[in-house]
Amino acid sequence: MKQSRTKESKTLGFATRAIHAGQDPDPLTGSVTVPIYPTSTYVQQGIGEHKGYEYSRVSNPTRTRLEENLASLEGGVAARVYASGMAAIHAIVSLLKSGDHVVCGNDLYGGTPRLFNQVMADLGLEFAYIDTTEAGNVERAIRKNTRFVYVETPTNPMMRLTDLAAVGDICKRRKVSVVVDNTFMSPYFQQPLALGADLVVHSTTKFLNGHSDGLGGVVVCAKQEHAERLAFLQKAVGAILSPFECWLVLRGVKTLAARMEIHDRSGRIVADFLARHRKVRAVFYPGLPDHPQHALARRQMTGFGSMISFETGSLKNANKMLKKVRICSLGESLGGVETLISHPATMTHAALGEKGRKAIGITDGLVRISVGIEDVDDILEDLDQALNAI
Ligand SMILES: *Cc1c(COP(=O)(O)O)cnc(C)c1O
Repeated sequence: MKQSRTKESKTLGFATRAIHAGQDPDPLTGSVTVPIYPTSTYVQQGIGEHKGYEYSRVSNPTRTRLEENLASLEGGVAARVYASGMAAIHAIVSLLKSGDHVVCGNDLYGGTPRLFNQVMADLGLEFAYIDTTEAGNVERAIRKNTRFVYVETPTNPMMRLTDLAAVGDICKRRKVSVVVDNTFMSPYFQQPLALGADLVVHSTTKFLNGHSDGLGGVVVCAKQEHAERLAFLQKAVGAILSPFECWLVLRGVKTLAARMEIHDRSGRIVADFLARHRKVRAVFYPGLPDHPQHALARRQMTGFGSMISFETGSLKNANKMLKKVRICSLGESLGGVETLISHPATMTHAALGEKGRKAIGITDGLVRISVGIEDVDDILEDLDQALNAI
């Protein structure tokens, strides 16, 4: 298949690339949307003669188009897509060998330390969890066998930031690769590869797909060697995204810029509202001027997004409020068009245990909200009536 005409067009704007990179009209019919190729195999013209596709575990045209699109949005040389965000993170640690060491943030998405500690540690990988909000801590944690520094910024759910440029400088000097889970910001608001990261991972389940109707993951690479090894691993391991799910993400990503603008605008309004509400004791959102890393947020992100955590005071208060919401949906996940609200201590971060949660500041009264793109006045009214039940 011919290469996308927009693949190399780094000069085009983000919203243009979201719609056109990898998404040329279909040469056969003119279809403006990428066709779904539900095929396992491809007819060959002769021995070793084919049109670039042999078997769909190795590559599939719908998947190729999505991989081109996401590589363009993150500014990488290539992207690889997987059946979930966790499968994408697994692919990244599969680049390592027994005896290798990874320095990780201590406030990661709950599934990530579960994979690292309960699966990968048994295969001889070592993980250290540290507070990466101070870049100096990263420098001190790097050992001779450290291969990756793995961070999320902002973190989930405490919304703490890591200075990606500072960590990138340290890691470049120490010849360690930087991996950033960019799920919360999406490439629209944060570009880790431009700040020195080597690999970016997303759960496409969240903002990239954006419609809460499919799971997926992606790894975007700055270096060809990583891209090649990950393509080999897709073939060898078989952890790939199906053509239909690839198509859903291609469809979702076309509106990423438009959705993120609304998520961000409403996120700021909801954070301000919560900060002023008499039933709310604290709000964690990098867009608030009293966030301890607000200046870094302004420097390293081009928006603050729509993920907000806030303190209701107790489990009882949180439950009173969460039982009352009508527009906001109580549930795990985030990044959808609908406002999703959750209780980290009993949902996403239950597996950490009370001690683990306490160490990173997650209380029983903490509530996390992913502000959707409904009319913001409706969201505010819903939150107000629910909070007043406390
Ligand atoms: C959801 C999420 C993941 C895991 O992705 P799945 O698609 O659920 O497997 C990883 N990192 C972050 C930050 C997430 O929010």
